[in-house]
Amino acid sequence: MYDVVVVGGGPSGATAAEDLVRSGHKVALLDREGRIKPCGGAIPPRLMQDFNITEAQLVAKVNTARMISPTGRTVDIPIENGFVGMVDRKDFDPFLRARAAEAGAEYFVGTFLRIEREGRHRRVIYRDKATGEERELPSRLIIGADGARSRVGKAEVAGWDKIPYVLAYHEIIKAPPKNDVYDPVRCDVIYDGAISPDFYGWVFPHGDSASVGMGTGLTNVDLKEATAALRAASGLADCETLRREGAPIPLHPLDRWDNGIDTVLSGDAAGVVAPSSGEGIYYAMVGGRVAATACAATLASGRIKDLQLARKLFMREHKTVFRVLQSMQNAYYRSDNRRERFVSLCHDVDVQRLTFEAYMNKKLVKARPMAHIKIGLKNLAHLTGLVSPERV
Ligand SMILES: Cc1cc2nc3c(=O)[nH]c(=O)nc-3n(C[C@H](O)[C@H](O)[C@H](O)COP(=O)(O)OP(=O)(O)OC[C@H]3O[C@@H](n4cnc5c(N)ncnc54)[C@H](O)[C@@H]3O)c2cc1C
Repeated sequence: MYDVVVVGGGPSGATAAEDLVRSGHKVALLDREGRIKPCGGAIPPRLMQDFNITEAQLVAKVNTARMISPTGRTVDIPIENGFVGMVDRKDFDPFLRARAAEAGAEYFVGTFLRIEREGRHRRVIYRDKATGEERELPSRLIIGADGARSRVGKAEVAGWDKIPYVLAYHEIIKAPPKNDVYDPVRCDVIYDGAISPDFYGWVFPHGDSASVGMGTGLTNVDLKEATAALRAASGLADCETLRREGAPIPLHPLDRWDNGIDTVLSGDAAGVVAPSSGEGIYYAMVGGRVAATACAATLASGRIKDLQLARKLFMREHKTVFRVLQSMQNAYYRSDNRRERFVSLCHDVDVQRLTFEAYMNKKLVKARPMAHIKIGLKNLAHLTGLVSPERV
């Protein structure tokens, strides 16, 4: 009998499993393996600190973010006193799973099928990858960390099917040497309706390779065509394509993460990715950690209500940043005129400091009061159209 079966061994599930075994629980970690998670791989320094990730896991260290407007204007934002780390999910996820297993989690390779319950007994049923047979893992509690298409969420948590998504698609290409348009230590973020009418496109360096892609919530956009246009515009059309892959990015945390019986969701399965940026790895790992805390509390108290702690702890820390990012997305991702204004705003050193502090350290810092007022006024002037996008 396990205390907790964790379904899904991505950043969220592997973190939950490791935390739980380290706090003395008997844990099974189940992952179906066999597919590299499509992902840009950008992680902030706060993640490395909080989850003990060393530079050995990085394939690149980025020191500049370039914002590109619909008319092709660029703003380079230097990353002061640090860097954005780039991980390759091909290696990062197995590393996290191995770390959880080394800490004491029992690791199973197979596909989650369903949860069966008989009185107070519950079993996670999965299909074993090696034999194709159905097997069972008896457990007190279950964490569903099986990603954006979570089978656990679909079967167990009401409202799961209402999570809004953007579909993201990227191509992993062989990186060219540094040249006029490509820099292996710079992330490019492209705000252009021709690439994405409601989200953005990106070029992220990954050492020998790079991720070039875009996302959209609209069904009439051809993601492959848009990515081909982005590659052409970025001078990357002729680079060898190593992989083509896509996946949904959920954009709104569920109102409830647990089923009130024995299961709690975390990470993409709970809809937890930052609006505007689509940043999900850090939040998935935090989600795994709070789900582990909630399970430990529930096992200790015997009160199923304590599973709700997972969402509460997460929201207490990150609700405000999510709200600000959602408002930013609503305000600026709706037309090329607005996108042009958004890139204009990024010229402002105070805006740069605030956004980067929020991304790098996950804190909304108190800037100088005059800086806040200035940013507020600039924001208002751009949203009401009082200034032209070209005016900085
Ligand atoms: C194209 C793209 C680019 C992105 N770029 C970035 C970025 O640069 N930075 C960033 O922070 N975020 C990025 N994200 C978001 C980020 O990838 C996710 O938010 C993050 O991976 C969520 O982690 P997770 O552990 O919740 O889920 P996942 O990483 O999806 O892990 C789920 C795990 O569950 C397993 N699983 C699924 N179903 C089953 C099943 N039935 N049985 C057993 N196991 C199962 C899978 O094998 C997988 O290992 C990007 C997303 C996409 C799609």
